[in-house]
Amino acid sequence: MSRDSGLSALHAHSVDAAWAAYDRVQAGPEGLNAFLAIDRDARTAAPDGPLAGVPVAIKDNLATLRLPTTCGSRMLEGYVSPFEATAVRRLREAGAVVIGKTNMDEFAMGSSNENSAYGPVRNPLDPTRVPGGSSGGSAAAVAAGVVRVALGSETGGSVRQPAAFCGIVGIKPTYGRVSRYGLVAYASSLDNVGVFGSTVAEAALGLEIIAGHDRFDATSADVPVSSLVPTRESISGASPLAGLVVGVPREYFPDSLDADIAARCRRALDHLRSLGAEVREVSLPSTDLAIPVYYIIAPAEASSNLARYDGVRFGQRAAAEDLGPMYERTRSRGFGAEVKRRILLGTYVLSAGYYDAYYKRAQAVRAVIAQEFRAVFASGVDLLFTPTAPTPAFRLGEVSDPYAMYLSDIYTVTANLAGIPAMSQPIGRVRGMPVGGQFLAPAFAEARMIQAAAALEHSLGSGAQQ
Ligand code: GLN
Repeated sequence: MSRDSGLSALHAHSVDAAWAAYDRVQAGPEGLNAFLAIDRDARTAAPDGPLAGVPVAIKDNLATLRLPTTCGSRMLEGYVSPFEATAVRRLREAGAVVIGKTNMDEFAMGSSNENSAYGPVRNPLDPTRVPGGSSGGSAAAVAAGVVRVALGSETGGSVRQPAAFCGIVGIKPTYGRVSRYGLVAYASSLDNVGVFGSTVAEAALGLEIIAGHDRFDATSADVPVSSLVPTRESISGASPLAGLVVGVPREYFPDSLDADIAARCRRALDHLRSLGAEVREVSLPSTDLAIPVYYIIAPAEASSNLARYDGVRFGQRAAAEDLGPMYERTRSRGFGAEVKRRILLGTYVLSAGYYDAYYKRAQAVRAVIAQEFRAVFASGVDLLFTPTAPTPAFRLGEVSDPYAMYLSDIYTVTANLAGIPAMSQPIGRVRGMPVGGQFLAPAFAEARMIQAAAALEHSLGSGAQQ
């Protein structure tokens, strides 16, 4: 079978089918609220491209020329970018049709999509539950069948966690693998553009198209992009993963882990063994420091990046007689509660007197976390396998304590801190809701990670939804 045969459903999904699904799921009180803007007139620009005529959806923090880019914030209501994000341009040049912009937590801060200024997104599998965040609109659009490929962004898990909650595939590439040009900055040293797909092959094709060096992003890596879509031969057959060593970090499987999630992970590991992989327990001792480190570094960078929304350079200006009151009113009215909380936290940890105690120490611990991953991979481990999130999708309004919400990212922030690629795929259901399994790989080893994920997907078959 050629590589394209795993993509036939993608190529059969027309723009008309996307609109039919959109009209079914978006509106009404039970509507998903997954989109913030749509473009009914969008057409393919490249009828011969690898994505010719394929509808795609784009998270609303990636700059588009034809539609506004609001980042789910009142601050940027109606803002239309004068330039286009590189990832979006590459999709369009491959023939994709950008049908709309998807709802998100304001400025990508959140894990449930309840922080959007334009209302929460609902999980297509159970509308009383959240889709995860912050790229929840893109995940819901894929899970509801509106599109089969969508772009999201990742700072600490915002593609993988909603992919897990919605029962789809989400990939966070190596830092620098995909250009951040046109991605509205949250925490620049952690931010990545990521891809959602209905299947591993579809997400891989999306990544293959958007990856690669870009002179408009100084942190873009000049590393060649290999073919990422797995061939059927590479994932089926007797022992497609023979020789592969999969590490299982014990810190990601604490005794407190939900027993049903642990059971789904064990079943996935059994499948990996039956595919020929060797499964080996490993240790990443500093894992429990990842959340505190992330919630110092991310707000610190955010407090600096979000300074540009002052009503002069960017942002809806609030009327006032003087400059000081104008700044105050613009920022008080334009930002929601979670964004303000992060700016306060970030400003605090960067302030004179606290910088060494918080920010500098967090940077040192971040380096240790990255080093622990390098050491594990240098010890002969090819990939790591873990749960994506500690719980399945929770109910809207169920998690109100910000710190409890931050713990949703306990298994995902590590890859952003270390800059390594990671992905989530469905490995079963618990109490009716999907569970995600996560692979993590050494920097630039996306192809290896995707091949293992595709082999696991093939082996689990319909079991991935049970
Ligand atoms: N939930 C995390 C946060 O709120 C991660 C968000 C993201 O990856 N954009 O910061």
